[in-house]
Amino acid sequence: MFCKSLTKYNRRKTNIVNVGNIPLGGDNPIRVQSMINVATTDIDAAAVQCEKIAKAGASYVRAAVQGISEATAMKIIKLKLAKRKKHIPLIADVHFNRNAAKIAAQYVEKVRINPGNFIDKKTGKILDASEYDAELQRLRDEFVPLISICRQNKTALRIGVNHGSLSERIMNRYGDTPEGMVESAMEFLRICMDENFADAVVSMKSSNTRVMIYAYRLLAEKMDAEAMNFPLHIGVTETGDGMDARIKSAVGIGTLLADGLGDTVRVSLTEAPENEIPVAKILISYFKNRKHHNPVPDINTKKYFPYGYHQRKTKASNIFGGKNQIAVVADLSHVNPVYDRDFEELGFVKNGNKWEPAPNSPDAVYTGSSLFDAATQGITILSDETENLVRCDISCFNSNFLDWIKQNPQNILMLETGNTNAVAELRACFLMLENANAKNPVIIRRAYTDQGIESMQIKAACDFGALLTDGFGDAVCLQDSSMESRDLTKICFSILQAARVRFSKAEFIACPSCGRTLFDIQKTLTEIKDKTLHLAHLKIAVMGCIVNGTGEMADADYGYVGAGAEKISLYKSKQLVKRNIPQENAVDELVALIKENGQWAEK
Ligand code: SF4
Repeated sequence: MFCKSLTKYNRRKTNIVNVGNIPLGGDNPIRVQSMINVATTDIDAAAVQCEKIAKAGASYVRAAVQGISEATAMKIIKLKLAKRKKHIPLIADVHFNRNAAKIAAQYVEKVRINPGNFIDKKTGKILDASEYDAELQRLRDEFVPLISICRQNKTALRIGVNHGSLSERIMNRYGDTPEGMVESAMEFLRICMDENFADAVVSMKSSNTRVMIYAYRLLAEKMDAEAMNFPLHIGVTETGDGMDARIKSAVGIGTLLADGLGDTVRVSLTEAPENEIPVAKILISYFKNRKHHNPVPDINTKKYFPYGYHQRKTKASNIFGGKNQIAVVADLSHVNPVYDRDFEELGFVKNGNKWEPAPNSPDAVYTGSSLFDAATQGITILSDETENLVRCDISCFNSNFLDWIKQNPQNILMLETGNTNAVAELRACFLMLENANAKNPVIIRRAYTDQGIESMQIKAACDFGALLTDGFGDAVCLQDSSMESRDLTKICFSILQAARVRFSKAEFIACPSCGRTLFDIQKTLTEIKDKTLHLAHLKIAVMGCIVNGTGEMADADYGYVGAGAEKISLYKSKQLVKRNIPQENAVDELVALIKENGQWAEK
């Protein structure tokens, strides 16, 4: 298993890696980092951004290093920062160019390489076993000299795998799967082990939350099997901006932090880099005291699938479970009185469709009436044929309750917890239902008292996201009496989308931009979102550069990719369809392309 226990929070034990004077891994706090989005050769602008990121509270700053001059510029940036008495460790982010990595390793505290493009080029060739081994030898021949430079200069390394840029060698053998991502890193980590080089960190990023969650878990398991303890850098790539990006990051990163995985975090937003830091800090602080959580009973975990998506099978009742989509329930139980005239009866919950205009209308409104409280009332007085909404928490889960629930699958559970380790406690309840073969639909309900949308949405995404990516939950219901129900409903829909269980708007994959971006990506993303957000059937990528953008845009339906100074190329799936068009027309051209393909709909 990827973690010591599913019911007791533990941080995975990892090596300490010194990144300059700020160590990560071991019992060190989980570190925050961000990345500048200007070229390192623009020394002044780069130094200013480094300072801003440091001031916002990051432990490390990363920069894209495309070639020799960008690598050399890192030395000057460092000197400039030192003159201003700023000593934040710098990380060079290198793709394709091994020589740039070797130069940067002499000046910075850490170098990130991408195993997908460290030695590999696209050849279109399928390798046989001996050719595969020859490639591994070539990888070793190229990688060992970089390790030596890092060792001499006390520079750490990150083996940074990206789902969208796996090597051809790995794709041939594993496809773009979590297994392929893990093997891609393990090829490099095994060399680190052979060379006795312990200052390596590893990451498994993807814009797809499920893929990255399963890949990190699998990596932890594989590393355990080979006695490796390299620390983990965790993040979701290309999340875009605003609330959706924060929630998507929290679903991916929060699920892993709840597993006890992660030694450093980067939240990747298409916004000013310093905006990433408060989000990362909220995430980390949510898990800071988790080890003191209320105990959760041990459970049989045979029916738990941590490395792939398996939705729990339930019997439909009312609008929940079975083939119904995962529902959003607005909680008005604290509003007294609730005016019923806009609601259509749906048994014990009210139909929410008439309450708010689409797309913010919940599927149901819960008013607190007709609720049966199993925790305080027991179960014996319930009639067997009626659909009941049964409020319960882990204290109800004894054999009598599970027997009764199993025999009355029309009853819908409203499952709650007050445990600081909500994920462990609720996951234990779901596994008890699974082990008892009970098919009742479950509404997951949790109350927050954050007095602020920023932290509340992140915490809710951590808790609900972890369970939804496990395949657990037929509906979600958020409660925070300080917030408007319509805001809570929006958060719920965004969490369902981030966990990939229900799509209610277009999905955007947008890179955070870096020194390679030659257009205003933040403004462009806003413009594209304004025009296409309602196209719930589409996934649209907005990427800063053609070098990494086309690989990283994963399985997007359309891609808007920077191709040079104010030049854009448009893609339909992975196919280039419009090359180097002027930026001022490019958003309209994208809309035209969607229309040409019959995938447009009016708002
Ligand atoms: S895709 Fe975006 S973040 Fe990645 S290298 Fe290109 S511009 Fe930089």
